[in-house]
Amino acid sequence: MGEKKKKIVKTIKVDLDKCNGCRACEVICSAFHAAPKYSSNNPARSRIRVIHEPLKDIYVPIYAGEYAKAECTGRDKYTIDGKEYDECGFCRASCPSRDLFKEPDSGLPLKCDMCESDPPLEEPMCVQWCLNDALIYEEREEEVEEEAVRGEMEIGLESLADKYGLQKIMDAVARMAISKKG
Ligand code: SF4
Ligand code: SF4
Repeated sequence: MGEKKKKIVKTIKVDLDKCNGCRACEVICSAFHAAPKYSSNNPARSRIRVIHEPLKDIYVPIYAGEYAKAECTGRDKYTIDGKEYDECGFCRASCPSRDLFKEPDSGLPLKCDMCESDPPLEEPMCVQWCLNDALIYEEREEEVEEEAVRGEMEIGLESLADKYGLQKIMDAVARMAISKKG
């Protein structure tokens, strides 16, 4: 058993009844994560996407979750108000079976990081920009096992290694190191 440590668990509750599909959350998320910050906005780069079902006029904000190197073999179907939704419709994963939650240029996976920044924000940007209060931010403290927290860089490197092979990535890093020295 590893050591226990205290961890702040951050959650965003989504109230579908209040979401009107304005997509302000997509716009601000992509702008906040642009480099430099706020230099552009492109919802395709957002870590939250609003899925719209036109017949029922339902909007469902979905947060980008974990990177998955293979598509899953078992899938879930959702029925809401008698309408069946696409098997992957509400999935949070950045996975090979679709383009959602991937950087459009590089194909690297996107994941919601709760707007981690220094200094920290009081509330994530999408929550601040949701004028309809469909997104509600909450924090709670939990005791968890000490574990290695996988950062964005590690996840990005893993996806590159899956795509090009580890040796090619290592060769590229070695070339970059040499050119930086020179
Ligand atoms: S900003 Fe709020 S109301 Fe607008 S699409 Fe996003 S969650 Fe829905
Ligand atoms: S919490 Fe931040 S990173 Fe996550 S979807 Fe909202 S704006 Fe994007």
